[in-house]
Amino acid sequence: MQQIAVVSGKGGTGKTSLVAAFAGIAGSSVIADCDVDAANLHLVLRPTRERVTPEPFTSGFLAVLAEARCTGCGRCGPVCRFAAVLPGDGGKPAIDSLACEGCGACGDVCPEQALALTEKQAGMLFVSETKFGTLVRGKLGIAQASSGKLVNLVRSRAMEVAVQDRREIILIDGAPGIGCPVIATLSGVDAAVVVSEPTVSGHHDLERILALCRHFGRQAFVVINKWNINQEMAQEMEQVAVAQGAKLLGRIEFDPLFAQAVAAGKTILEQDADSIPARQVNQIWEKLTAGLKK
Ligand code: SF4
Ligand code: SF4
Repeated sequence: MQQIAVVSGKGGTGKTSLVAAFAGIAGSSVIADCDVDAANLHLVLRPTRERVTPEPFTSGFLAVLAEARCTGCGRCGPVCRFAAVLPGDGGKPAIDSLACEGCGACGDVCPEQALALTEKQAGMLFVSETKFGTLVRGKLGIAQASSGKLVNLVRSRAMEVAVQDRREIILIDGAPGIGCPVIATLSGVDAAVVVSEPTVSGHHDLERILALCRHFGRQAFVVINKWNINQEMAQEMEQVAVAQGAKLLGRIEFDPLFAQAVAAGKTILEQDADSIPARQVNQIWEKLTAGLKK
């Protein structure tokens, strides 16, 4: 089994479109959407059914009030350093679930044991069937910050499905940036495909993500997307990538067809298999899989 993560130094580089296209070419892989802060691969892969009931993802704790026990003495409010104890009905407190950090201080001072900690639901995990294989995705709740943990859960479910269904490939849509979720995405993968755009910030982001791949000993493969918007910069970035030990997979030219494909819930190959970008994506996949066999 091979695990291929598609990552980028920032969002909006075309990473998800490339993962969807790879999934279409591969045919029956397991696809893991680890961009848990903004999961949108399902919009293109369009799940046909849930394989299992969506599972709540818990992380951290939350104070819960047992109203019947509370006498409204008011001791809990002042000890909360996160301003999560608000005035509630009838002189009793109300817990702001978004602000509560689950420290337990309020419960410690409550003479009636009216405040207890419970596990906090931070998101949901979905395992769905799609036209190109099983899609595992996590969706982080509003203002939740446990994305690295949720990425690990998505990866581990994807691995279970791949073993169960004897799939050869796990395709991972990584989170943008170089933070905790990306580190969790890169852990244990066979290859990191870095998608970059030829801009000044894209150049900078490419160097940062390649440094991260090197640090974790992952083989990096580079794709320059929209290469024709700045050909000189594209060339410069490719030179930097090679100098940093990455392998070049190819270039994809800018084409509004990508946006049209996403809007139609299709991959670029479904949209127009004979188009130049579709053929470039195909060649990139062939080069990647050939490179992984070496
Ligand atoms: S658990 Fe901590 S953060 Fe949450 S309401 Fe109580 S004191 Fe505030
Ligand atoms: S400390 Fe306990 S009893 Fe007093 S107001 Fe808070 S929850 Fe109610």
